[in-house]
Amino acid sequence: MSATIIDGKAIAADLRSRIATDVARVTKAHGHVPGIAVVLVGDNAASSVYVRSKTKAVAEAGMRAFDHKLPADTSEEDLLALIAKLNADENVNGILVQLPLPPQIDQNKIIFAIDPAKDVDGFHPINVGRLSSGLFSLVPCTPLGCVRLAKTVHESLAGMEAVVVGRSNIVGKPVANLLLSENATVTITHSKTRDLPAVCRRADLLVAAIGRPEMVRADWIKPGATVIDVGINRVPAADGGKPRIVGDVAFAEVAEVAGAITPVPGGVGPMTIACLLLNTLRAGCQQKGLPLPEL
Ligand code: NAP
Repeated sequence: MSATIIDGKAIAADLRSRIATDVARVTKAHGHVPGIAVVLVGDNAASSVYVRSKTKAVAEAGMRAFDHKLPADTSEEDLLALIAKLNADENVNGILVQLPLPPQIDQNKIIFAIDPAKDVDGFHPINVGRLSSGLFSLVPCTPLGCVRLAKTVHESLAGMEAVVVGRSNIVGKPVANLLLSENATVTITHSKTRDLPAVCRRADLLVAAIGRPEMVRADWIKPGATVIDVGINRVPAADGGKPRIVGDVAFAEVAEVAGAITPVPGGVGPMTIACLLLNTLRAGCQQKGLPLPEL
C-alpha cells in the first residue's frame, strides 16, 4: 500500500476536543451553554443509531442536547408546531431533524420551517444560497468534513483538479461548492456522466458520494491523487456472517495508486459528527453576538 491513510477518527477526535475547549470558554465567559435539539420521528434503526451517537458527542463536547423522539404517525402539523417552538427557544442554538421522515410529512416543508440561523444541517435554501454566494453559512456537515480532511494533506486546494462523483443536495452539490470556494477547479459527475472513469482520472482530488459499494476502481485514479470516500454501504458477508460496511471506493486496490485516501469506516463518518458540533457552536456564537470560533 502506498497511500497515506487520512485518519478521520483521529482528526475528528482532535477537532471535538478543541470544540469542547471552546464550548467551555464560551460557557464561562458568556454564561451560555450551546444547545442543539435533535428530532427523531419514528423508529428507523439506522436513524436511531445516528441520533444516539450525535447526542452522545454533543454531551461530550459540553453542549446541551434536547432530544425529541416522536412516534412514526406524527402529523406534519405537529412536527411544524415543534419546529416553531424550537425556533423560539433561546436555549436551542441548533435544530437537527433526522432524515428520512415518514411519508405523511413533506421533508422540504420541515427543512424550510427551521430558522436558517439554527439550521446546523445547512439544508435550508437560505444557507444553500449563502454557500453558493460564498457567504458565511451553516454548511452541511459531511461536505465540511470532506474538505477539512482533504486539507490535512494539502495546505491549499487552490488550482487542484477536483472531481465529485454524486450530485445530491446533502453531499455532492455542497462539497462541490465548498471546493470551488477553496479555488479548486471542480467537475461534478453523476449517473449520466459519459466515461466516468476517464473523468475521475483527471482528478488530483476525488470525492466519491455515490452509494454504490466499491464502485471506484484503481484504474479510475490518477497516481498520487487524494481520494475522499463518503460512501457508507452495508454488504452481506461472504460467509453469511455480519454485514460489512464498505465505501464507494475499492479501498485496497485504490490505496496502491492514490497518494492519500480516507478509510471506511473511520474516515468521513466521524468528521460529520465533529462538524455538526462545530456548526452548533458557530450557530450559538452567531446568535449571541459572540466572535466565531477559529477552529
Ligand atoms: P444519493 O442522494 O443517492 O446520491 C447519489 C449520487 O450518486 C447521485 O447524484 C447519483 O446520480 C450518483 N450515482 C449513482 N449511481 C451512479 C453511477 N453508477 N455512476 C455515477 N453516479 C452515480 O446519495 P447521498 O445522500 O449523496 O449519499 C452518497 C453516499 O454517501 C451513500 O453511501 C451515503 O450512505 C453516504 N453518506 C455518508 C455520510 C457520512 O457521514 N459519511 C453522510 C451522507 C451520506 P444521479 O443524480 O444522476 O441519480
